[in-house]
Amino acid sequence: MAEGYCVKCKAKKEIADGVEEVMKNGRKAIKGKCPTCGVVMFKILGGKSTPPPASPEPKPKPPSDKPSAD
Ligand SMILES: [Zn+2]
Repeated sequence: MAEGYCVKCKAKKEIADGVEEVMKNGRKAIKGKCPTCGVVMFKILGGKSTPPPASPEPKPKPPSDKPSAD
């Protein structure tokens, strides 16, 4: 199980009842409780942060059916 820092105990604790959650930004985190005092602990799992490429999507060109004008 994951370890987290309890702000109440001011110590590292093993997260109790830890559940893995995926945050909005796509990162994983463990959410659980301190086994000693029961305060909610949250540990963000380090690792790769792969933000979606912020490149503007190329707009599809409208079909240009050019009538052959002589
Ligand atoms: Zn605690």
